[in-house]
This record gives sequence, C-alpha cells and structure tokens, in this order.
Amino acid sequence: MEFLNEDILAYLDDHCPEEPELLKRLDRETNLTVPYPNMLTGHMQGRFLAFISELLRPANILEIGTYTGYSAICFAEGLAEGGQIHTIDKNPEVEEIASRYIKEAGLGETIITHHGDALEIIPALQQQFDLIFLDADKENYPNYLPLLKEKLAPGGLLMVDNTLWNGKVLRKAHSGDQETQGIQEFNSMVHEDPELEAFLLPLRDGVTLVRLKSEK
Ligand code: SAH
Ligand code: CA
Repeated sequence: MEFLNEDILAYLDDHCPEEPELLKRLDRETNLTVPYPNMLTGHMQGRFLAFISELLRPANILEIGTYTGYSAICFAEGLAEGGQIHTIDKNPEVEEIASRYIKEAGLGETIITHHGDALEIIPALQQQFDLIFLDADKENYPNYLPLLKEKLAPGGLLMVDNTLWNGKVLRKAHSGDQETQGIQEFNSMVHEDPELEAFLLPLRDGVTLVRLKSEK
C-alpha cells in the first residue's frame, strides 16, 4: 500500500538526493536474485537513513536485519571516523551478497556482520550504540524493545522500520497474524513508555524515531 498518491511520490523522487551507483546495483541484484526484494530499504528511505546518520555522526551503530546490506551501507555514510556498525541477520542465504557489496564499498572492517538470532545476539553485545535500526522479525518487535533500550546510549536514536505495516495497523489483526499484532503492540509500547519519546513518520512503510528522555 502506498500512503501517498503517485504524483506526490514522483515529486518526492525528483527532489530526493541521488542514489549512489553501488547501491543501485545492489538493489537491482537483490531484485533479480533474492526472495522478498521489497524488504530492501531502497532509494528514498536509504537516503533518509544516510541523512540521519550524517546528522548524528554516530560512533557506533547497531542494525537488526542486514538482509542484502543496503541499509547498513547507507548508515555507514555518516559514521564518525573510526566508527563501526554491528549488523545481525539469521538468514544465511543473504550473507554472500551482503558481504560482497560491503567489501566493494570498502566497509569490510567497518561493518561487522553477526549471523544468528538477534534476540540472542543483542544481549551478548558489550557496548551501547548511538544509533540503532530495528528492521527484522515484526512479531518480536515488543521483545526487542527492552533489549534495545538497554543498548541505546544516552542521547541515542532508535529507528524502527515498517511501523505502519502496509496500513494493517489500522485494523484489529486476525488471531494468526502475529506480525501485525507485534507492530501494533510495539507502537503502543513506545507511545506509552514514560521513558521514551517516539515519533512515527509516514515515510515509505512507516519509520518510527525513538529517543530516551533525558532525566531532569
Ligand atoms: N535492513 C534491510 C532489510 C531487512 S529485511 C534493508 O533495509 O535493506 C529483514 C531481515 O531480518 C531478513 O533478512 C531476515 O532474515 C532478518 N531476520 C528476521 N528475524 C530475525 C532474527 N530473529 N534475528 C536476526 N535476523 C532476523
Ligand atoms: Ca524494512
């Protein structure tokens, strides 16, 4: 579901920064060779992620859901000198393409890929992160929230993808639809948590920005 009409989308596209050539190729190869290519962040949202990263200049970033590496490569554009990205995915089928493009982008040392279930890997990570991007199993979004709050550095930003879930958040999910239920519950949790301030942007499939409120 597109939330904006075709003309507005075309206008936004015309006024969006250009997509780097390597990312264009990654998008094309993902579409030709990998299942569910619509999961890839893509041009406009990718430029937004890069923009936020450039603004924040994070020293370290955590990403849940590497897929073919598109969003991680976007975030790397704004990393502080010597910074690192930890990115996690449990699907071995996307490892080869992600690591090939990460290397080609010259980010082999900068982007550290973890393979396995993020729910187990996150608690074992030692440091906190200035920027976190949650973009994996939607049914577990409510379970990720407490883990990621722990890992968010003071003043850090948590970005969460697909929080409008194709508009399905508007209606009561049927009992078997755990993904919609997960996103609905997550959206309520961040909205009601007194320690958090959350802003749901209607960009693409919904991107929520969450920050920890500082103590007064
Ligand atoms: N961030 C990517 C897209 C991620 S798609 C981009 O914007 O281009 C979601 C990914 O989450 C998939 O590759 C899937 O394998 C991964 N995933 C789903 N559940 C997971 C889990 N529990 N642990 C780690 N990765 C998971
Ligand atoms: Ca996504």
